[in-house]
Amino acid sequence: MSADLVLVSGTSGFLGTAVTLAYLEKGYRVRGTVRSQEKADKWAKKHEGKFDKSKLEWAIVKDVAAPGAFDEAIKGVTILAHTASPFHYDVKDNEKDLLIPALEGTRHALRAAQKEPSVKRVVVTSSFAAVMDFNRLSPETTFTHEDWNPATYDEAKKSDNPTFVYCASKKVAEEEAWKIAREPETKWKLSTVCPPLIFGPPLQVIESLDSLNTSSGAVWGVVDAKEVPETSFPVGTDSRDIANLHVLATTTDEGADKRFLAIAFHFDNSQVVDVARKAFPELDGRLPKAEPSEGKPHFKTDSSLVDRTFGGFKWISFEDSTKDTLAEILRVEKALKQ
Ligand code: NAP
Repeated sequence: MSADLVLVSGTSGFLGTAVTLAYLEKGYRVRGTVRSQEKADKWAKKHEGKFDKSKLEWAIVKDVAAPGAFDEAIKGVTILAHTASPFHYDVKDNEKDLLIPALEGTRHALRAAQKEPSVKRVVVTSSFAAVMDFNRLSPETTFTHEDWNPATYDEAKKSDNPTFVYCASKKVAEEEAWKIAREPETKWKLSTVCPPLIFGPPLQVIESLDSLNTSSGAVWGVVDAKEVPETSFPVGTDSRDIANLHVLATTTDEGADKRFLAIAFHFDNSQVVDVARKAFPELDGRLPKAEPSEGKPHFKTDSSLVDRTFGGFKWISFEDSTKDTLAEILRVEKALKQ
């Protein structure tokens, strides 16, 4: 049992839920940020009984992009896990919808941590989006934790491609995090985790499948599709592994000062269909016809820093992660119909 208090930003989100649960399961006290008390109450109700209630408290942060957003929430915190950042492609204004909340949210969270003497460790949820380079997506390329997306804020501001803008938002946010971490007045150590498309059971409060988070929606997207949907990012990892990496990154000496590319598997949506067909007879008639294939030739990745740092990290497999993702969404679908 640890006396550490962990501030998790974005507890209401898909990954924020997994990260919050992971720290609670390991015995840490958690202060979760949400945009409203109503969201906090619904989340607590959904997860009642999974952990000691007294270990979880809330801070309301309506907008991570507002100056001083984290100044109250950070008080007394030893570990900050900053996950809150928009991940969607429904972009009307590149800056307001993606770039500003990603960049300013990270800046405000880490500046607040810089002023709070109790903070010892910080982890920022970055992304493979901050690693990859649209001009190098070829089978000759192996992306590692040393690679950086070359996109700039100004390019992203003008782009009409929402995927490019999202990827740039993650790059500029992570770059800012490392800049703040290297300032002499910063007393804590930073780690960043760069996940690909995150699979795994969506355990956040889901009021309609139309509002499913982007990555769970991408996996669920094979259901009721006429054809196998194009595989946008052919690399994935389970949310429980990403959450555990946040915990390891902030609670071990070895995890400090590192950037972890965290890719467990490469996949194609035809393989998602195949797993779905074999595991869920009830989906018969709701899946497109597909022969499992390797998909289009694409890049390679090297996430071995995770294994080297944490001694043979055990990744959840593509098959198990896909099954658990679909099982949870099927359960939610049934519950929403009742
Ligand atoms: P999500 O379910 O949409 O969660 C996003 C979270 O951020 C929510 O809690 C959301 O609050 C909060 N948030 C967004 N903008 C905010 C703002 N302006 N002010 C306050 N809170 C705000 O998405 P997710 O997939 O879990 O993503 C979480 C993190 O993981 C993000 O940093 C994302 O870039 C990163 N990531 C995700 C994936 C993936 O495949 N899922 C892959 C790589 C990296 P509300 O719920 O109230 O809107």
